[in-house]
Amino acid sequence: MRPIPPLANHLGLPCRNAVVTHQCRGDPSHRVSYARLHPGERTMADSPLQMRDIRFALYEHLQAPEHTGLDEDTIDQFLDAGHTFVSEFLAPINAKGDEVGCTRHEDGSVTTAPGYQRALDQWREDGWGSMPHPEELGGQELPLVLVSAIDEMVIGSCCAFHNYTGLTRACANMLSRRASDEQKQTWATKLISAEWQGTMCLTEAGAGSDVGASITKAIPIEGERYKIQGEKVFITSGDHDMVDNVVHIVLARIEGDPEGVKGLSIFIVPKKRLDENGEATIDNDVFCAGIEEKMGIHGSVTTTMKYGENGGCEGYLIGNPRDGIKIMFDIMNEERIVVGQQGQALAATAYGMALKYAKERIQGSSIAKGKSITTDKVAIIEHPDVRRMLLTVKAQSEACRALLLKTSLLLDQEGAAEGEERKRLSALAGFMTPICKAYGSEVGFQACSTAMQVFGGYGYCKEYGVEQLVRDARIACVYEGTNGI
Ligand SMILES: Cc1cc2nc3c(=O)[nH]c(=O)nc-3n(C[C@H](O)[C@H](O)[C@H](O)COP(=O)(O)OP(=O)(O)OC[C@H]3O[C@@H](n4cnc5c(N)ncnc54)[C@H](O)[C@@H]3O)c2cc1C
Repeated sequence: MRPIPPLANHLGLPCRNAVVTHQCRGDPSHRVSYARLHPGERTMADSPLQMRDIRFALYEHLQAPEHTGLDEDTIDQFLDAGHTFVSEFLAPINAKGDEVGCTRHEDGSVTTAPGYQRALDQWREDGWGSMPHPEELGGQELPLVLVSAIDEMVIGSCCAFHNYTGLTRACANMLSRRASDEQKQTWATKLISAEWQGTMCLTEAGAGSDVGASITKAIPIEGERYKIQGEKVFITSGDHDMVDNVVHIVLARIEGDPEGVKGLSIFIVPKKRLDENGEATIDNDVFCAGIEEKMGIHGSVTTTMKYGENGGCEGYLIGNPRDGIKIMFDIMNEERIVVGQQGQALAATAYGMALKYAKERIQGSSIAKGKSITTDKVAIIEHPDVRRMLLTVKAQSEACRALLLKTSLLLDQEGAAEGEERKRLSALAGFMTPICKAYGSEVGFQACSTAMQVFGGYGYCKEYGVEQLVRDARIACVYEGTNGI
């Protein structure tokens, strides 16, 4: 392990990290801040990611090599490369993204937070986005259980960043299963290569949990082409400056179709349509009318999208009319596992941070030695109640990880099975998916809050970064269907 560079608070200077603007308080020798470590000098041992536990889940609990055909060395290479990527490109941008957030301009364009573009460029170059997709569309056909393990590292380092890449992947997966060959070649390939962004567009001002109340309209032009008119709210990654095109997957009702969810169809609605050379250059009358100010995930842009305000928006039907909700569930089910993992991954990171803090923060005396003020002071990890909190967070995070990775492995096994066995595995994965979502998000949020408690008052302040994890984790209980429902 390389030596930790001298910290600002050791010198009694204002903290270096831009998030922290005040003079650090307390006895500095008792506190070490991740946020203040220079990112370039961060070492594997400093990382709050729980690499040993991820490996334990993959190898000891799930015997992933036996089920996936990838040996431990190969899986380890992916995990190590993932660790390098998140350490160099994501962990350093997490706090800044929270502080700066995204900016919408008058013309509807959106600027993402500093460092996000660089991280997405590297993500694309490394091919992380293409991991699970079919080879004929440019994918690597890697098992979902490995994708999930990498997801934990990405989310645990920068949850907001994952909202860009996770949604793109889910849209690409849906298209590679449900779209026509031409649609796959045109749209899915660009999502798999991570050149373009994917979004899922269900929610409207009057249609939140009650998706069937949607009023976005689709008017037939010819064949798969429809004119789209309507407004969707809360659309994650609806527009931003990191990509040349955004492929919106939109639920809309074809004129004359029945009310309710069963009357909804699903469309590819690009921000830019293709010209005669196949280049995405034609403006498709898709406009970002606003972005939300949120409690957390500030680096992830949440947009209000207007489609066809000027009558010039075209969408392309996927599958059959009125199959919209069934097809959208391909994306939703994948995203439900991801959202559960947002809770779990943030809890795992919060645990790593709390454990480190508890070993370094000196406060109080050991109860084993009585309460005399002359007794030597100890690190707070010596206190049984602090251990209780740490062990609770660890147990919650590990239980959720086991649940999530097991479900991903079930999906891999389902993909490889046939006949009755495939049906059985599909039913089991279908049963587990909402449990992953609701349990992972609920318990993950609680665990982040408990980890914050380990920091005492410092946890409630920005400098250690743990309060960001609590704020970032909260949304997972709400989106992809509220936990109550
Ligand atoms: C940051 C963020 C990102 C999002 N990203 C997307 C996105 O990319 N795409 C997208 O389409 N949507 C997105 N959403 C929308 C999100 O999925 C909805 O907010 C969510 O589904 C709830 O809808 P609502 O906000 O209208 O709440 P409502 O439906 O009004 O619900 C309010 C409360 O009532 C409860 N409730 C409502 N109906 C029932 C019922 N029948 N039975 C019991 N309880 C009920 C709910 O559980 C909730 O507690 C996002 C939201 C946020 C905040």
